[in-house]
Amino acid sequence: MGRTKIGIVGCAGRMGLTLARQVTATEGCELCGGTEVAGSEQIGRDLGELAGLGSSGIIVGDDPAALFAAADAVLDFTAPAASATHAALAAENETAHVIGTTGFEPLHQAAIEAATTRAVVVQAANMSLGVNLLLALTRQVAAALDPEFDIEIVEMHHRHKVDAPSGTALALGRAAALGRGADHDEVAARGRDGITGERERGDIGYAVLRGGNVVGEHSVVFAADDERIALSHIAGNRAIFARGAVAAALWAQGQPPGLYGMADVLGLGN
Ligand code: NAD
Repeated sequence: MGRTKIGIVGCAGRMGLTLARQVTATEGCELCGGTEVAGSEQIGRDLGELAGLGSSGIIVGDDPAALFAAADAVLDFTAPAASATHAALAAENETAHVIGTTGFEPLHQAAIEAATTRAVVVQAANMSLGVNLLLALTRQVAAALDPEFDIEIVEMHHRHKVDAPSGTALALGRAAALGRGADHDEVAARGRDGITGERERGDIGYAVLRGGNVVGEHSVVFAADDERIALSHIAGNRAIFARGAVAAALWAQGQPPGLYGMADVLGLGN
């Protein structure tokens, strides 16, 4: 069997460059191209050189349609509107689409789901093995504890992150709500400021820190009177997300069209 041809949209971003290094380092894969947003000054530059890999002959382009047509799988860590547009190209070309972008509005999510009738789409707010285990554990612990335990989610990311709470924090909140049999959107307390009144029983609270070059830290705290359980994950390097994304691209080959998550790729069950 030939090597899987992998393209990267948003290839000059923080994750884009990490993905370029990961694809290049993974056996069975071939980096077949990369695009950036129209007007980016990285267009026309050698992607290998940008990623610190030396000259690769792969030039950063601005034509995602050509990339989706040429690739077996496209890795997409860009922006919500961009990923929604890319999803239509994935459907048109029946190309696997691995979406790591976060911060989607319902409109974008609907566009992505529409593409899944024709393309294999793997979407996850966090592609690391550790966080996907944390999601499963959070659901399990929330199901085991009675509602005496207040659930709070704390996350910290680098100063450049544009969405809050992080997609991973929200996924953890949804896992906790699922474990408890609650409707997440009804119990989520996403911002507290001023005279907020007492904490509502059953709320799932969020606290967000931003600063420095922190790759991503998440804790789920279960707090009752006199005892507290905390489940935490600390990401030390973006390579953990890139490893998951490349594994998803390889796993997607030969799967029937549909929307999948990292639990499917990692064989973690639901
Ligand atoms: P970044 O700003 O460094 O990179 C995004 C890149 O996408 C930029 O280079 C930008 O120019 C490019 N881009 C934007 N619109 C585009 C378009 N239409 N076509 C092509 N390129 C386009 O950001 P980042 O830190 O790399 O994060 C990107 C996204 O990935 C964010 O939503 C972030 O939350 C998410 N993320 C997810 C995971 C995960 O495991 N799922 C991990 C890290 C980051």
